[in-house]
Amino acid sequence: MRLRGLSIALSVAAIAATDLFVAGTLAQTKGVDRLYIMDCGQNAALDQSRWSPGVNVGKPIELSDNCYLIRHGSDWLLWDTGYPDAVAGKPVTTPVGTATRAKTLAAQLSEVGVKPSDIRFVAVSHTHGDHVGNVAMFPDSTLLIQKAEFDWAFAPDKKPPFRGDRPVRELEGDLDVFGDGSVTIISTPGHTPGHQSLLVHLPKTGWVVLSGDAAHFKDNWDNRRVASMNTSAEQTLASYKRIAELLAEKQAQLWINHDKPQSLGQKHAPEFYD
Ligand SMILES: [Zn+2]
Repeated sequence: MRLRGLSIALSVAAIAATDLFVAGTLAQTKGVDRLYIMDCGQNAALDQSRWSPGVNVGKPIELSDNCYLIRHGSDWLLWDTGYPDAVAGKPVTTPVGTATRAKTLAAQLSEVGVKPSDIRFVAVSHTHGDHVGNVAMFPDSTLLIQKAEFDWAFAPDKKPPFRGDRPVRELEGDLDVFGDGSVTIISTPGHTPGHQSLLVHLPKTGWVVLSGDAAHFKDNWDNRRVASMNTSAEQTLASYKRIAELLAEKQAQLWINHDKPQSLGQKHAPEFYD
């Protein structure tokens, strides 16, 4: 475990340069054991064009909000943490829409026999509230986040998204999390300065890219649209290109966190993918 502030930039940068090469050469890697999709909330949004500028203006859209729990041998990694569990008891309405939670993350973890303290790594696609709402539930897990994201979210003029004095490993690019090519963090900035995606290999399911908010729903991905709140259009388009190349190279599936129709067609915990 490394604490924020320690100098790890060099080693991470060195690893980053070879990560995809390593993943590519280990195409026959055993992969992870299990991937559970957990229901981390829903957003009944009032105007879809917030994400698709000029398209479907004023039209509401229902968005899923998933978390993904991955077992790798005796290790567990949680990808994104969703809306805060408190939303389950008290829906939150904002000018964007209404956030609800049918189940807590804590209950879903418990249902599959996992305690928060069992989770070695919590990795977040980015620091928006619907992705980091339960980071505080895992005070002993190492948080895997891009340095650019941490610096942006914890800028002095902003309200911190969670307590920053916790175990954090700040990344500067890609990371082969377990060193065997089965789980690779892919730097995909644009939605936020340090947005990242996750490339996962499952023995039966194959390769999957968990794309966070790189695109919010399939129509935006298909049309390569840039959401209105994104911090960089140029980076967004470059990240779309990178994800598309990865999908082609790995023959991977693209799992879009907030795409509700896709989510409804998937298995959710306690069922799992392997
Ligand atoms: Zn977001």
